[in-house]
Amino acid sequence: MAQRFSLAIHGGAGVMSRDSMTPDCEAGYHAALARVLQAGQAVLSQDGSALDAVTVAVCALEDEPLFNAGRGAVFTRDGTQEMDAAVMDGRDRSAGAVAGIFGPKNPVLAARAVLEHTNHVLMIGDGALAVARAAGLEFRAEDYFFTQERYDALLETLKMEQEGTLDDDPARRHGTVGAVARDHRGTLAAATSTGGMTAKQSGRVGDSPVIGAGTFADNASCAVSATGDGEVFLRLCLAHEIDARMRLAGTPLKRAVEDAITIDLTALGGSGGLIAVDRDGVIAAPFNCEGMYRGWIVEGDSPVTAIY
Ligand code: ASP
Repeated sequence: MAQRFSLAIHGGAGVMSRDSMTPDCEAGYHAALARVLQAGQAVLSQDGSALDAVTVAVCALEDEPLFNAGRGAVFTRDGTQEMDAAVMDGRDRSAGAVAGIFGPKNPVLAARAVLEHTNHVLMIGDGALAVARAAGLEFRAEDYFFTQERYDALLETLKMEQEGTLDDDPARRHGTVGAVARDHRGTLAAATSTGGMTAKQSGRVGDSPVIGAGTFADNASCAVSATGDGEVFLRLCLAHEIDARMRLAGTPLKRAVEDAITIDLTALGGSGGLIAVDRDGVIAAPFNCEGMYRGWIVEGDSPVTAIY
């Protein structure tokens, strides 16, 4: 018998603070999240795979300039954009990822091409772009990816650095997008895509494309997509910590994610959150900062979108 599908998405833990969020802006974020949920839901309701659903949802998030991935990615300190993305299939832990790339309109499709057309998991540089080209992916020039808000955030960050007033306001610095799903066959998948962190050094890679850090899926436990301080998520192998708690210690999803965020992440001074779904279709979306753009739907229930 077909299992109920579940889908969760996030647009990053780098939310605007409540003080600076206007009602119009807030409505715009909710509408964007609802559109993305609909895109992923359309795949799952027609019996599509979890991998296709998370890929479609992340493409839709990348196309939204509001979020830090694809169009609207943040800038490095050199004024360039370098994008990271990953996909993982919970059936056999097959995965594809790209890091530090610029050009493909949808970096998550480049990650998917690595999964489907190579024997590798993580690719960078010209080799990654060649795989994307060979797969026939659309490429775009600088003006497509540019947004004034992200460029202003870079200038502001560099100025604050110079003046010694730099804070770690997540709204200015962070963001990432991701999706996790369980399909009618009970298969899990995860996808994550990001521009990284504003004013990062050229060549810096965060947790998002690293399997087990920012992205993970195994049908035996859960699918996870993370967002937040990439360096801390990398040091913790955070997504895999959740899988390990569930698979090896029998911890239920909700407890495993709460512990990973409130104990592990917080102990290392990291901020952020994640979305996760388990093999029973249970969804969790914990975070330890002011908010996380997020949404979810379980088949038969109403969709939910939330920011704070
Ligand atoms: N985790 C992402 C990175 O470090 C950024 C974020 O999610 O805010 O690249």
